[in-house]
Amino acid sequence: MNFNIAVIKGDGIGPEIVDQAIKALDAVGAAYGHAFKYEELLAGGAAIDETGKALPAHTVDVCKRADAVLLGAVGGWKWDDLPGNERPETALLGLRKALGLFANIRPALLFEELAGACPLRPELTEGGIDLVVVRELTGGIYFGERGVKQTAMGEAAYDVEIYSEGEVKRIGAVAFDMARKRGKKLTSVDKANVLDSSRLWRRVMTSLAADYPDVELSHLYVDNAAMQLIKNPRQFDVIVTSNMFGDILSDEASMITGSLGMLPSASLSASGVGMYEPSHGSVPKMAGLDRANPMATVLSAAMLLRHSLKLDAEANAVEDAVKAVLAEGYRTPDLHTEGKTKVGTSEVGDLIAARVKRG
Ligand code: NAD
Repeated sequence: MNFNIAVIKGDGIGPEIVDQAIKALDAVGAAYGHAFKYEELLAGGAAIDETGKALPAHTVDVCKRADAVLLGAVGGWKWDDLPGNERPETALLGLRKALGLFANIRPALLFEELAGACPLRPELTEGGIDLVVVRELTGGIYFGERGVKQTAMGEAAYDVEIYSEGEVKRIGAVAFDMARKRGKKLTSVDKANVLDSSRLWRRVMTSLAADYPDVELSHLYVDNAAMQLIKNPRQFDVIVTSNMFGDILSDEASMITGSLGMLPSASLSASGVGMYEPSHGSVPKMAGLDRANPMATVLSAAMLLRHSLKLDAEANAVEDAVKAVLAEGYRTPDLHTEGKTKVGTSEVGDLIAARVKRG
C-alpha cells in the first residue's frame, strides 16, 4: 500500500531522531511491500528562521491531507527571548487545534532490559509495567473561559474547567477501544467528589461501559490515582482522564519507566489524521552530536503504523526490533551502563532497521 506521511523534523535533536524513525519505516516498507512518501515540512524554530512564523499555513494544509504526521521536537535557546505567542512551541498547540487532535495517548512501558532505570523498588515493577494514559487534549480547563477581575481581596484570576457529554464520550470511546485491544481494564480518573465537571465525566464513562461489556471499568479520584501509580503501577492497563489531570499523570507515569528517551506518544483526531512524536523535547545541547536516543521517535513511528495506518503486524515488528536491540546490549549514552555496547543515534537507527528487515 502507499501512504503519505507529513514529516516535521523540527529543532535541536529533532532532525537526527526523525531520520532514524524514517529508517525504520523504510525497513517496514521493504519487508512488507508498502511505499511511504514523506513530505518534509517546517514548524517551530526552523520555521521561524525560514518564514517568520512558527506554524506556516502550508505546513497545516499538508498535514491535514496526509495519512499521518511524524514530528521530532521543537524549541531551543535561540528562540527563548521571543514573546510567548511567537515561540516555537506555539506550533504544537496550533497543530493540535488545526488537526482536531483530541486524544493524546502516552504508553508507559518499562522494558525488561531497562528495569534498572526505574526509580521504584524492584518488587513493585517485577514482571514489567505496561500501561497507557489516554488524555483528553482539546477541552477542559486549558480551553475553558478564563479571565482576571477585581475583588475585595485584590485581583483574582480564573480558568473554567468545562466538559460536554460529547467531548467525554469521544475520548471515552478511544480509551474503551484501546482497553479492548489490550488488557480489557479501564480506569477513569476524575475528582467527582468535588467537581461537577467530574460528575458529568463519571456519568458519561459509566454509560459508555454498557457498549463494552468485555472491558472492566473502574473509577479513581485523581489524588488516589497519583498515589496508586507509585504504590502499585502494575494494577493499571488503560487510564482515561481529562486534559489537566492527564497532563500531570502522564508525566508521572512516564517517569516510572525511567527514561525520557524511550517514550512515544500519539495524538488522534476524529478525521483520522494522527500526529506522532516522542514525549521529550528538542534537547538543544545534544543537537548534531549523534548522542540522542531515537527510540522514543522510532516507537512513535510504530504507533503511527498501528493507529493511523492500521498496520498492526508492522507496528509489532518495529517494537520487537527495538526490544531486540536492547536485549543485544546496545545503548545510547543516556541508557549506557557498564558491560553494554555504547552506540550513537545513527548506528542504533541502523540496528533497529536491520532487525525490522530481518523480521
Ligand atoms: P527535553 O525533553 O528537551 O530535555 C530534558 C532532558 O532529558 C535532557 O537534558 C536530556 O538529558 C534528556 N533527554 C530527553 N530526550 C532525550 C533523548 N532522546 N536522548 C537522550 N536524552 C534525552 O526538555 P527541556 O530541556 O525542558 O526542553 C528543551 C526544549 O524542548 C525547550 O525549548 C522546550 O520548550 C522544548 N520542548 C519541546 C517539546 C516538543 O516539541 N513536543 C516538548 C518538551 C519540550
